Amino acid sequence: MIPAAFEYKRASSVDEAARLLGQGDDVKVLAGGHSLIPLMRLRLAEPRMLVDINGLQGELGYIRRDNGNLRIGALTRHYQLQQSDDVNRSLPMLAEMATEVGDEQVRSLGTIGGVLAHGDPAGDYGTLALMLDATITTNRRSIAAREFFKGLFTTALAPDEIVVEVSYPVVSGPHKYIKFRRRMFDWAVVGVGAQKMDDGQWRVGVTNAAPTAVRAAGVEQALASGASPAEAAQQATQGLDPASDLRGSAEYKRHLAQVLTQRALEGAT
Ligand SMILES: Cc1cc2nc3c(=O)[nH]c(=O)nc-3n(C[C@H](O)[C@H](O)[C@H](O)COP(=O)(O)OP(=O)(O)OC[C@H]3O[C@@H](n4cnc5c(N)ncnc54)[C@H](O)[C@@H]3O)c2cc1C
Repeated sequence: MIPAAFEYKRASSVDEAARLLGQGDDVKVLAGGHSLIPLMRLRLAEPRMLVDINGLQGELGYIRRDNGNLRIGALTRHYQLQQSDDVNRSLPMLAEMATEVGDEQVRSLGTIGGVLAHGDPAGDYGTLALMLDATITTNRRSIAAREFFKGLFTTALAPDEIVVEVSYPVVSGPHKYIKFRRRMFDWAVVGVGAQKMDDGQWRVGVTNAAPTAVRAAGVEQALASGASPAEAAQQATQGLDPASDLRGSAEYKRHLAQVLTQRALEGAT
């Protein structure tokens, strides 16, 4: 289908973009367009105006290592995360996730800021943000990842707020991200990430088995108490609330979370 008519503005600064967004709830940022445009084509989204921020690539498209953190500008594309030496060295799990996002077309245009702002529970980077206590910075404030994701496609962002950066702690120990999907390049039916931190503790997160990504605190506590991966994985259903849909029943997705947790822990290198 063809999207409904909309006005198009190209922002020349973050401030200008915020000012345009302030004109109403029906004004939306256009970043990579790989979530927004499909919704517009289906007329599930009918913004009155799009504010294109792609002209701000110089300002918002960066990857910097800084004081034990990896700071990533919101307009950084998936393929840049995949190929960046800094990401592969400082936070290899993020590069691994980027490699698994969609196909080459999606990876060449989609942005990390877009994934986080969209609040899709199937978005992979939100899981890592929760697991690692990342900080999301907007044009107004810094928001801890645990405060950012509020519900299905719902975040803490105000209508005129723009994600400018996400900052993850640097950690390069054993890790694994596993997505179970029906077809290559597909979104995760369920995904699980496991990362061993520098203090020896594990962080574990689950993608697409609740209205937001979920940090698997029960699994982390079990591991800290000496449980084996198989024993700890039994706790992976805590906090999940998957929807039954064409890709599987809620029960099946809970089971997947357990199986993938065990595999991620055992396969982490
Ligand atoms: C076939 C296909 C497969 C995909 N598979 C995956 C996958 O496996 N894993 C995954 O994580 N994603 C996947 N995606 C989604 C892809 O990663 C998108 O790029 C991403 O969800 C949105 O980023 P975007 O830059 O394209 O944002 P857009 O589509 O431009 O915007 C999405 C939403 O976020 C808002 N927004 C964007 N940037 C900002 C910002 N900086 N500040 C405030 N609001 C902002 C927009 O207004 C809009 O509401 C897939 C997409 C497709 C089409």
